[in-house]
Formats: sequence, structure tokens, C-alpha cells
Amino acid sequence: MTHRILLLPGDGIGPEITAVAVKVLGTIGERFGESFEFEEALLGGAAIDATGTALPEATLEAAQRADAVLLAAIGGPKWDTTDPDKPRPEQGLLGIRKALGLYANLRPVKIFDALREASTLKPEFLEGVDMLIVRELTGGLYFGERARQYDVVGAGADGAAGQRAYDTLDYREYEVERIAHTAFEAARTRRSKVHSVDKANVLESSRMWREVVHRVAADYPDVELIDQLVDNSAMQLIRNPAQFDVMVTENMFGDILSDEASMLTGSLGMLASASLGDGTALYEPSHGSAPDIAGQGVANPLAMLLSVELMLRYSFVLHEAADALAAAITRVLDDGWRTPDIANAATLPQRRVGTVSMGDLVIERL
Ligand code: NAD
Repeated sequence: MTHRILLLPGDGIGPEITAVAVKVLGTIGERFGESFEFEEALLGGAAIDATGTALPEATLEAAQRADAVLLAAIGGPKWDTTDPDKPRPEQGLLGIRKALGLYANLRPVKIFDALREASTLKPEFLEGVDMLIVRELTGGLYFGERARQYDVVGAGADGAAGQRAYDTLDYREYEVERIAHTAFEAARTRRSKVHSVDKANVLESSRMWREVVHRVAADYPDVELIDQLVDNSAMQLIRNPAQFDVMVTENMFGDILSDEASMLTGSLGMLASASLGDGTALYEPSHGSAPDIAGQGVANPLAMLLSVELMLRYSFVLHEAADALAAAITRVLDDGWRTPDIANAATLPQRRVGTVSMGDLVIERL
């Protein structure tokens, strides 16, 4: 079967890790009798340079046509600006998420045994850590009503005029319902446990969140549901991270908790993500464009390849191919191969490799 993938290499190390992904997909296609067709488009800084905007219309159209979008990373110092009238690379990322209606962000957090020493936590606390964070991505505080007001009487010190600013944590029932379904469905393919994270002791939006999640849970009697307050979750992620299977939460809590959880693995170069909606899904590594190492051939391509694994699973339902890719990556690490970001004093000099070689080692094991 033919699967059409839109590639968005973006900026910095993006093109280098995208090339590895394309090569690996070629091998997977041959081995599993699938065909992957690639189209490439501009996003972020590269798009600003070529067209003056971070998300050209042609890119959006190509994304809507594709079966899946594979994005590497965008941004870099060249396009950093505080001028609100200048285009910024991030506008491309937020714009494409919004335009594709990607309301569910899935971030697996899994410890590779071979990399356990990279974490800042003691290894015994990492035993069995394998969780999936399901973050609501298009609602809540990031999209609610907000304003900044000036010269508000009483907003300054001693009753003087000053500034006032507010953001609104706003959710509709259907938004909570659909993300809850995503979480319960995912839990069914894993260890059948969902932690729903909220702040129901304080926030009205959280009380509705909890009510709706429990209603949806009735459709999944085989899945265990546990409510947890967000402050407790932040603590439990460090105290006993292995207790989690699927964690589902609203946009901002998810933003913060997923970064916290990502550090359990100790390495940004190993984390993938999937953003799903009702149409084309988008897959991307969690790291940025790493301008400090761009063009040097040393970027770790594994987060990109783990994003390809998610694409094979969620968009193409090629679980066997996804399992093979995951196993190949695990074996490369077990065999001691390391890019500089995941190498340490124990890494043999002859096992230190760059971007292209790391990709080829995965291909050998496929
Ligand atoms: P970053 O993730 O790009 O880099 C942080 C550190 O991790 C750097 O030292 C970098 O060399 C290293 N690193 C990241 N990915 C790596 C990889 N695959 N292999 C080896 N080392 C890796 O974050 P930053 O430095 O804060 O941001 C750089 C640019 O990326 C900024 O313009 C930022 O806006 C952008 N950014 C983009 C995304 C995205 O595209 N989704 C996400 C985060 C940051």
C-alpha cells in the first residue's frame, strides 16, 4: 500500500535527521512490502527566508493532502526577534497544529535500559518506566480569552493606576470528551490504566473535566481510572514514575508535566511525539533545531526515528513494522552505539557515531 508523507525538514539539524528518516522508511518499505511516497515543504525559518511567512499556504495544502506529516524542527537565532511585526518560526508550528485540528498530543516516555545512567534519577527509581502522556493541545489556557489592560485604577501599588492581565482556562465538554476517548483507547493497547490529572479542588474547569472523564470511562470498564491532582502528579513523577501507564491532562498541565517526565529519560534526543486530530496527523521529535550542532553531522536521529515509529502505528496501523523499528533502535543502544549527546565516559571511542552512521546501524538491524 502507498502512504503519502509530507516532510517538513525545517531548520538547524532538521534536514540531517529527516534524511535519516527517509532512508529508514525506505528499508521498512522493502522489508514489509509497503511503499512510502514523500513530498517536501517549507516551514519555520526556511519558509520565512523563501516566502516571508513561517507557514506558506502551499505547505498547509500539502499537509492536508498527505496521509501523515513528519516534522523535524524549526527555529534558530537567525530568526529570533522581539519585533511583533516580524514573522517567527514558531508561528509555523502553532499554525499547522491549529489548521490540522491536532487536539491530542501523545508523548511516550520510556527508559531504554542501556541509557538508564543518563537520567538524573537513581536507576532503581526508573525500573519499569513506560508511560504515555496525552496532552490536550488546542484548548485551555493557551487558547482562552486573554487581555492586558493599562491604567486600571487600583492595579498599581497603594491604589494607583497600573496594569492588569488575565488568561482564561476555558474548555467545552466535547473537547474533554474526545481527549478522554484518545486516552482510554491508548490505554487499551497498553496496560489499561489512565491517570486523569486535574486541579478539581480549585478550578471549575477541572471539576467539569473530572465529571466528563468519568462519564467517558463508563465506555471502558476494562480500563482503570485514577484521578490525581496536578501538584501530586508533579511529585509522583519523581517519586514513583513507574506507577503511570497513560496520563491524560489539559493543555498547560500537560506542557509542564511532559517536560518534567521527559527528563526521566535524561536525554532530549530520545523523545518522540504524535499530534492527532480528526484528519492528517503530525509526528515530530520533542527537541528543537539544535542550532549549536547544525551541519556538523552529530545530531542524534533517534527521536526522529521514534517519531517515525509512532507514525507507523497511529497513521498507517503498521504495528509489525513499528515494533521492528523500536526493536532495532533498542538493539543499537544495547550494542553500545552512541551519538555524542547520549555518550558518556563508559562509551567506547569506536562506538561513538554521527547522524548518518546511527541511522545506518538501525537499518542494519532492520
Ligand atoms: P534544542 O532542543 O534545539 O536544543 C537544546 C540542546 O539539546 C542543545 O544543546 C542541542 O544541541 C541539544 N539537542 C537537541 N536535539 C538534539 C539531537 N537530536 N541530537 C543531539 N543534541 C540535541 O532547544 P533550544 O536550544 O532551546 O532551541 C533551539 C531552537 O529550536 C530555538 O529556535 C527554538 O525555538 C527551537 N525549538 C523548536 C522546537 C520544535 O521545532 N518543535 C522545539 C523546541 C525548540
